[in-house]
Amino acid sequence: MAETDIGQDKAISCPHPEEALTEAEWEMDWDVIVVGGGVIGLWSALYLARSGAKVLVLDGGTGQDCCSVGNAGLLAPSRCKPLPGPGRIREGIAGMFSSSGYSPGLSFGLDPDLWGWLLRFALHCRRSPFREGSRILLEMGLQSLELMEAEFGQEEETFPAGEGVLYPYFQRSGWVRAVHQVRSRQTPGLEADLLSPGEAKEVEPGLSPSVVGAVLQERDRRTEPERLMSRLQEVLHREGVRMLSLTRVYALDTGLRGGVQRVRTTRGSLRAKQVLLAAGSGTRDILYSLGLWLPLRFGAGWSISFSAADPLPKKGMLLEEARVGITPWAGGFRVTGGLELSPREKGIHRLGIQGVLRQARSRLPGLDYSGRPRIWRGHRPLTPDGLPVVGRMPGKGNVWVASGHANLGLTLGAASGSRVAGAMGGFGEEPIHALAPDRFLRD
Ligand SMILES: Cc1cc2nc3c(=O)[nH]c(=O)nc-3n(C[C@H](O)[C@H](O)[C@H](O)COP(=O)(O)OP(=O)(O)OC[C@H]3O[C@@H](n4cnc5c(N)ncnc54)[C@H](O)[C@@H]3O)c2cc1C
Repeated sequence: MAETDIGQDKAISCPHPEEALTEAEWEMDWDVIVVGGGVIGLWSALYLARSGAKVLVLDGGTGQDCCSVGNAGLLAPSRCKPLPGPGRIREGIAGMFSSSGYSPGLSFGLDPDLWGWLLRFALHCRRSPFREGSRILLEMGLQSLELMEAEFGQEEETFPAGEGVLYPYFQRSGWVRAVHQVRSRQTPGLEADLLSPGEAKEVEPGLSPSVVGAVLQERDRRTEPERLMSRLQEVLHREGVRMLSLTRVYALDTGLRGGVQRVRTTRGSLRAKQVLLAAGSGTRDILYSLGLWLPLRFGAGWSISFSAADPLPKKGMLLEEARVGITPWAGGFRVTGGLELSPREKGIHRLGIQGVLRQARSRLPGLDYSGRPRIWRGHRPLTPDGLPVVGRMPGKGNVWVASGHANLGLTLGAASGSRVAGAMGGFGEEPIHALAPDRFLRD
């Protein structure tokens, strides 16, 4: 099979608008400063502003650091499960020794700092935390879709109406497991159709004849991440939220009572009554500057976007056995995959990218991979228990965190944002106890 010419890295940049603050805005005491203009920061800022707060979003904005733009764009409550789970360690180890020489699943490097994190991860690869975590994530995923429907339900381009996401299987064992899961899952809102190979090929003609069956998950949706991000920014603008790009936060100054008073940025310092750290994979470093710690690491992944392709996939798809996502949008499609826990270099990882593409081509040979694609590398923020970390930082009364959304940031963003905004504003629901940062400080 001929390999795709992946050429140079043409980074997808975060579409943060460049805004300037007035002198009065530099001097004022903001109700909330949100650090990070990814999908989590933007949804949080929206609900904070709607609660009446004067909100400023700051983003370092070099594009490379924003995971929210180059991802697969799947909004999949049916896949709302923690990353650690039964069998996950075995899968990761098997992936390291796979015959292809590269696995788009878990890949562990030799970073010594990683091992404490991995130990915690391993402790969560048990059935009972996995079940409880799945319940929490599913509830948030379904809530998110409702919130997105309320916000963008009328916009077919941002939030295409109910066509579902397709999960094709190519190995008997994977298919049998999928059928069992669909039949044993009685959750309202997660209705799914089981498709025979013929039916699957009718829905998605690009599939290989080796497909053994597919699940069409009706409630799951897809979006074009860049479009969602720029629509969110427009809505925020309308709600009076101020957004400052190319502004990296490097320190938070505390006052006598321990709370943060000033946010130091590369453009100057600002005052805030409350600070929300929603800086994705950058959250851990900002916490360090305060002498605080959370077990946040990041998992690198890639997307490969083809434009002017013909034929296009008919639906958003997740090839679960290969952990590869495929999403169509106007005139093009995107292939995503890879989860590298110990990134060795910041550039593109040719072996990894070709590995992801090989998995996609062998299962969907009927798509057009002929053009020179746009390559992107992003860093998902990960926690060792596979749940986001959303809530107030203990010991720093006015510092809040919303990060660690792993593979589900787009799916969970609206629910996370609404919950953290509710808790910060003293109205609405407290973020769920199981997501609070202090769970890691109790262990
Ligand atoms: C290959 C791949 C495919 C994926 N597919 C999906 C999918 O289909 N569906 C789904 O739901 N999720 C998916 N995800 C996961 C999703 O992309 C992430 O969970 C989500 O984007 C995380 O959002 P965030 O806002 O926390 O972080 P980010 O999007 O990374 O945003 C953080 C922002 O903070 C800024 N920042 C960092 N440090 C600082 C600082 N010191 N000062 C100021 N600003 C700072 C950065 O510039 C960045 O813009 C995928 C991820 C990958 C890698």
